[in-house]
Amino acid sequence: MWEFYMPTDVFFGEGVLSEKGAILDALGKRALIVTGRRSSKMNGSLDDLTDLLNRIGVQYTIFDNVEENPSFDNVTKAVEFLESETFDFVIGLGGGSPMDFAKAIAVLLKDKHLTVEDLYNKEKINYWLPVVAIPTTAGTGSEVTPYSILTDPSGNKRGCRLMFPVYAFLDPRYVYSMPGPLTLSTGVDALSHAVEGFLSKRATPPSDALSIEAMKIIYRNLKKAIEGDRNAREKMLIASCLAGMVIAQTGTTLAHAMGYHLTIEKGIKHGRATGIILPFVMETMKGEIPDRVDTVNKIFGGSLLKFLREVGLYEEKVIVTSDEIERWVNTVLKAKHILNTPGIFTPEKIKRIYGEALEV
Ligand code: NAP
Ligand code: ZN
Repeated sequence: MWEFYMPTDVFFGEGVLSEKGAILDALGKRALIVTGRRSSKMNGSLDDLTDLLNRIGVQYTIFDNVEENPSFDNVTKAVEFLESETFDFVIGLGGGSPMDFAKAIAVLLKDKHLTVEDLYNKEKINYWLPVVAIPTTAGTGSEVTPYSILTDPSGNKRGCRLMFPVYAFLDPRYVYSMPGPLTLSTGVDALSHAVEGFLSKRATPPSDALSIEAMKIIYRNLKKAIEGDRNAREKMLIASCLAGMVIAQTGTTLAHAMGYHLTIEKGIKHGRATGIILPFVMETMKGEIPDRVDTVNKIFGGSLLKFLREVGLYEEKVIVTSDEIERWVNTVLKAKHILNTPGIFTPEKIKRIYGEALEV
């Protein structure tokens, strides 16, 4: 038995906001734009958005202080700053961080007695402002998932399931300005979503179809996208959206849970942190789901690990201590991602995977 639910209305193409964005008029007359500190002012996306809102007569407030891997504190302070204003909808503009932030604040500005911690209690999430997502990285797929990943006060990255964005506007021009290393890291995030979704215990026929297509697009385009090829970057934006539709159904797996520690404690970007670990987690599944592992390797030219080496993912070594690994294993074993991951995972097995992927 399976279900496939993907309610977000997705618009794609150069100039898509100006051409299709008038639809936002139906969401109300007061918008909150949440974005990062710099990039949306440089890649043309914020100008396109404010031009559109001015043209259709929607007033807006800009909150441009979203951190990377947004913390509970970042969200709480934004709510305190904004709660005296009234909004009809929230627009998340940027990478996964602003889009995830938009989902969190859309709940907290509607249901004002809730705290960030309450976002993790499904029973408390009953009302929210509609969310619109405009990605400017090609990686997270957050524009088509209901997830918001925030960093709690103990430094753990924790995902909650909130709402799907109502609309997503994907304009490839916004990802043309990404530097090569960010294109690599975010592209590998999309790759991890496609692969993890395909290996997940929760994979379904439609999610498999999307995974396979996303993996093929990524295999053909990631390297060229890193080198700056615009057509390849456009294709990566499509692949990241398809892969987002996958994880919205399947969730992510152990590779994500293991990578979170590298992001928070070692400052490694989310996609890179996950991708470094992924082939070694996949290797452990050969006994459980050999055909699926084989399919992934075949799509990536014979070996996923070799492909990731070729695109430069392992060029910079990640150095960790055995004490750090010891500490991370306990959190990883408690992560709900394990439920989606085929195989039995003991502390020794997790330590071994970290040891294979990193320099200890
Ligand atoms: P990000 O954290 O949103 O942004 C990373 C950096 O990229 C920031 O410095 C940002 O600058 C910059 N940037 C964004 N767009 C750019 C562009 N077009 N050109 C140049 N620089 C640009 O990165 P992300 O990888 O997209 O998102 C990662 C977050 O998403 C993590 O918190 C991760 O856990 C989460 N995530 C969520 C989901 C989901 O389903 N919801 C899935 C996977 C990952 P500014 O700060 O100046 O904007
Ligand atoms: Zn991810």
